[in-house]
Amino acid sequence: MHEKHVPVSKAQLEEITRQFPTPFHLYDEQAIRENARRMLDAFSWIPGFKNYFAVKACPNPKIMSILKEEGFGADCSSLPELMLSEKVGITGEDIMFTSNDTPPEEFAAAKRLGAVINLDDIGHIETLEEHAGIPELISFRYNPGEARTGNVIIGEPTEAKYGVPRENILAAYRIMKQNGVKRFGLHTMVASNELDGSYFVETARMLFELVVELHRKEGIRIEFINMGGGIGIPNRPDQDPVDLKTVSAGMKALYNQIIVPEGLDPLNIVFECGRMITGPYGWLVSRVRHVAEKYKTYVGLDATMANLMRPAIYGAYHHITVMGKEDMPCSRIYDVTGSLCENNDKFAIDRKLPEIEPGDLVAIHDTGAHGYSMGFNYNGKLRSAELLLKSDGTVQLIRRAETEDDYFATLRFPEAETEV
Ligand SMILES: *Cc1c(COP(=O)(O)O)cnc(C)c1O
Repeated sequence: MHEKHVPVSKAQLEEITRQFPTPFHLYDEQAIRENARRMLDAFSWIPGFKNYFAVKACPNPKIMSILKEEGFGADCSSLPELMLSEKVGITGEDIMFTSNDTPPEEFAAAKRLGAVINLDDIGHIETLEEHAGIPELISFRYNPGEARTGNVIIGEPTEAKYGVPRENILAAYRIMKQNGVKRFGLHTMVASNELDGSYFVETARMLFELVVELHRKEGIRIEFINMGGGIGIPNRPDQDPVDLKTVSAGMKALYNQIIVPEGLDPLNIVFECGRMITGPYGWLVSRVRHVAEKYKTYVGLDATMANLMRPAIYGAYHHITVMGKEDMPCSRIYDVTGSLCENNDKFAIDRKLPEIEPGDLVAIHDTGAHGYSMGFNYNGKLRSAELLLKSDGTVQLIRRAETEDDYFATLRFPEAETEV
């Protein structure tokens, strides 16, 4: 059980909406900072511990700068994400480049920035060599296949498009050693939004054992293991967050049991979590436009699944607070919808909520990761603003809302066809 909390009151939100109209995503700086510190503290027994924040979760330079100040790096998977990292001063080995189906020019950009390149496939070695050159440090993403089970969001490892399969993993490192690589990392990511902490301890065991095998069979000394992202957040009030201290203690015990006796200490451990870092500290704030009685009762918001598509694509639960009605009984059952011409444009189905009226403000929880960033323009919907509730209590616009001009900017109209 945990409390689903909104960091501002209804009166404060009404005040904010006078300057910044709904819908918008609101992020809580202080909570993000404290959360980042809790993670570093939980893994403080690892001298080089780092979390490379998965940029795709919340690709906003202000959020990335805050996390940089807290000692985080950036996990990138595309050229624009690499560019964002460079812009906020995250460079060199503070960038993890974990991509798949990667275009050659992105390898070149990653190499130019001195990023740690994490290869998804043995076939990428040639592309890398040809377009970027072989770096001194290389990592591979490992896909354990039948050795592990995944979860709903990411699927079973044998069905996943990611990573080097078991049968190729030793050869991948061997080839890189022959190519003159001096330093090696090992990565995996087999679950997403996983709340069972023991899953991550088992992932560490799998990687530790592979580190030992690579050393024994190929004479390769792995410098770090990268546990990937995938640590879940408690979207539902009856769920609990992953206890990082317990995960860390479990990993430490395995480290002492598997790595130390082989003389492979020190081995660094890193993560590339996005969701658990910012997810719980973002809210999509929206105003109720209509309440309509049909075969069911529909609450129509001014936000749509273009602002938050997780409920529609994953059936994900996102808690909803009706501002100012926190203590009222949840006596009504609503479908909470957006305005897309798409019937899965629903933030909640059959949700028990207090009586809602047009004009009410709602806060949809846990939108700080994979919220804004998954947005799109279907039905001519425009992307919203992003606001930061700063540690001093003031609110800062960290991304303006799109306008019709943005929507039209990429279009070429028929009358312009003769122009180049
Ligand atoms: C998406 C992703 C992450 C981040 O996942 P979270 O669920 O946000 O922690 C990290 N690494 C890779 C390779 C990813 O694809």
